[in-house]
This record gives sequence, structure tokens and C-alpha cells, in this order.
Amino acid sequence: MTNTPDARVRVRFAPSPTGRLHVGGARTAIYNWAFARAMGGDFILRIEDTDPERSTEENVQVILNAMKWLGLNWDEGPEVGGDAGPYFQTERTGTYAEALERMKARGSVYPCFCTKESLDAKRAKAEAEEGGYAGYDRTCRDLDPAEAAARIAAGEPHVWRLRVPEGRGAIEFDDAVYGHVSFPAEVMDDMIVVRTDGSPTYNFAVVCDDANMGITHVIRGDDHLSNTPRQILIYEALGFDVPTFAHLSMILGPDGKKLSKRHGAASVEEFCERGYLPDAMVNFLALLGWSLDGETTLIDRETLCREFSLERVTKKDAVFDETKLDWMNGQYIKEMGASAWVQASLPWLFELGATAEDVAARPEFYLGMYPLVAERLQRLDEIPAKLAFLFWGAHVPEFDEKSVAKVLKKEGARADEALRACRAVLADESRPWEAASLEEACRAEGERLELKPKLLFQPLRVAVCGNMVSPPLFESIVLLPRADVLARIDQVTEEVFGG
Ligand code: GLU
Repeated sequence: MTNTPDARVRVRFAPSPTGRLHVGGARTAIYNWAFARAMGGDFILRIEDTDPERSTEENVQVILNAMKWLGLNWDEGPEVGGDAGPYFQTERTGTYAEALERMKARGSVYPCFCTKESLDAKRAKAEAEEGGYAGYDRTCRDLDPAEAAARIAAGEPHVWRLRVPEGRGAIEFDDAVYGHVSFPAEVMDDMIVVRTDGSPTYNFAVVCDDANMGITHVIRGDDHLSNTPRQILIYEALGFDVPTFAHLSMILGPDGKKLSKRHGAASVEEFCERGYLPDAMVNFLALLGWSLDGETTLIDRETLCREFSLERVTKKDAVFDETKLDWMNGQYIKEMGASAWVQASLPWLFELGATAEDVAARPEFYLGMYPLVAERLQRLDEIPAKLAFLFWGAHVPEFDEKSVAKVLKKEGARADEALRACRAVLADESRPWEAASLEEACRAEGERLELKPKLLFQPLRVAVCGNMVSPPLFESIVLLPRADVLARIDQVTEEVFGG
């Protein structure tokens, strides 16, 4: 059975909260989210927290924060609720018990009393023999129902196994990405669905949840491809519609190996800490396996949410190219505008000594930084190195040695003269503290002294910014108070030229 084509699309992202959100998981989330939006459907967030040791409250929060940071709003799930809840597997125990009852009534499960010891012994024996272990030998499959009931009533420990139908044949499905997939039936064991302690196995819980939540499309990593035939058997055992599956290829590092910590940052949180913008991350990750038209690289959220389709998802493994991500992030920085930039840059501005109060009190100072760096940043964590000089006040903590040697102390450069000339212009209070006018006046001085602009401006740059590679000079200068600029020139004159 499959879903009727006109059923409202419902998809889910189902992370196990065992640590940070890996970029592979983030891409899966993005595809589900964008697909739901494109289809006018629902995007559900379900937390698969059945591993009691690793699924901590804190890890749940880490995932939710990563989702929020990426801007992947979910329609149902933690914090927002919904009719198909609860959205934590640990709170859905009752639904698994109900599903088990349903399968019992349909005769599609049976209790198995085989002990672990006996199963282990059989497995070891089979493995030693030719042919190997072929799965559970179905000892309990045909127990007399009355006997089985009596043993259960007597409290004998047991699991519940799926009764894989005799002659089921190959398990086939049409994956929206992989195409037609077929698994031979022989590999299908009478798998356990409920353990001795009453807890559901992973595949059973996933199917119960997806079915009960009305999921129409299961979009997930292809590490789950081998679970899919088992899950299909469970759907059939429950008598539920099988959703459409779409398995996503792996994300590889530049060396062709699965992307992991070895390649540097691999979690959403780390990319956030390194100054990538959520819009750029979403754009970049969306393109790891999907394309709009095979060539467009900058795709905003609106376009993604309108145009995303599973047809354009490739099954080829995607390579994570950090150089491309850096470039893309730079493009988003360039376009984001000053006030969004200040907001996004706060953590790094705080590193430099900014405070929330100061940002509120002097918006023009902070907004004014943006044009200086809008086209020069690939990541926001480059801000401290690039803009530190704006926070030094009247005193430069340290002049870059190389710049001092190359610019200020260079034979015949007349750097002291250049500084004196510029200082005089900058000290003239009748002149507006405005970049173009200051630059023009300094240039005129340079011409009078027959100093080329470079020889005139580089010393000033080193004096004010501490090195020779600052953002545009006069635009930077006018962000600072006149007194501080003059004090820095005096400082360098004294330290380098002895007053
Ligand atoms: N919880 C599973 C995981 O973290 C996802 C299960 C699924 O998508 O079916 O990999």
C-alpha cells in the first residue's frame, strides 16, 4: 500500500540527541523542511531519545538550538506541540504497546521464549558450520498459542518477534532518490519488535511513530537504507500505509572519506562559532545533493522553499568544499546590510570590548563598521583581527613590527614628514570629520610635499590601525574620535621617531 497522492505531505526530522547536530543531519533537516514548505505540508521534529545514556536534556537543547539557529522552523514538535504528539519517543511508550496489541490481533507477531544463551549457542554453532548463521531459526514461531499464553501468564521472559509472512518474496520499493530498490526476502529475519523488558526496538518505534504521525515521506540519510526493508515489513504487519522513502547520500570530506571531526568543523554549532551565517549554511548545505538548475549557487530561503523537489536530489555522494562555503558566506555578508551584520557580529564585537549598552548607545559607530568590512570578510570570526583598532581608544597596544620596518622606518620614505602633514590636516577643527574631505586635504598636502599617496597614507595607516593592511583608511579614521587619532599619531611619532 502506498499513500494516496493527494494526501497532505507530512515529513519529519528525527534526530537522536546524542551530541551536536552534524552537518549531515542538518542537511537532512533542511531537505525535510524545504520539501514540506514546497509542498505546502507539515514539518515535524521528533526526538528519538531512547538511548538513556546519551540522550540528555542538554543534548536535546543543543539540537533545538541548532535548528533554531539555522531557521528551520518546525510545525509540530518540542516547544510547539501538535496533534500528533508527544514528540519525544520516551513519552510515546503507550503507542508502542498499542501497536503491539494491534499486531497480536492481526497474528503478525509471536512471543519468543528462547533465551539469550540458547540463541548465542545456536549462532556460534551455525557460524562454525558451512553456510553460516541465517537468522533466528523460528523455534517459537509455531508454538501452540495456548501454551504460549500459559507461559506468558506464568511470567516467563519473552520477546515479541515479527512473523515475516511465508513466501513474502523480495521487498521492493521506489526510493525517491535511489530509484527502485529490492532486498531479497531471505535476509529477513523474524526480527524482534519488543524486547523482554517491554521496550520497542529501534525499527519498530520508528515505524509506529511515522505511521501514527501520518508521515507521508521519510527523507533521511542513506545509513538507514538497510533498515527500510525491515520497516516495510513492520508497516505491513501493522496494516499501515508505507510512506515514500528518500535516502540521502553521504557527505564526504575533500579526501573522499565521510565528513567527520577529522576534517575540522562538522557540527552546526562549530560553524556558528566560526562565524558562518545561517542563511549561507542553509544555502550551502541545500546544494550538497540538490540543485535548482545545475548552476545557480546563491539560493535564498524563499527560493529553496518554493523550488525544492526530491526529483532534483542526486544519489551521488556530495563533497563538502569549505572554500566554496567561505566564498558563499562572504557573499551573504556582503548582502546582509549593516544592522543585521551588527546583530550577527555581536559575539566577536564583545570580544573586542563592545558591550550591549554601547551598541545601543552608539549605533552609528557599529553600523559604520559594516561598510569597512562588508566586502572583506568571509567569516565573522575574522572581525577581531580586522577591527580591533576601532577599540583601542587613544593608545595603540602594539604596532605590527613588519609594518613599522616596511613603512615607517624605510630608508628615504619620509614617513615622519608624511605623519606630520596628515596630523596637521586631521587636527584642523574647522574641517568636517568626514572621510572624503579629510582624504582630499591630506592628498593636497602630499602633493605640496611631493609625496606619493602611498608614502603619505601608509604611515598614517600604521599609526592609526597598527598595521598596513587595515580596511579603508579614512572611512576607518572617521569612526574614531579626533583626539584618539591624533594621540595615536603622536604615540608612533614618539616611539618610532623619538618625538
Ligand atoms: N534517529 C535516527 C538518526 O538519528 C533517524 C531515524 C530516521 O530518520 O528514520 O539517525
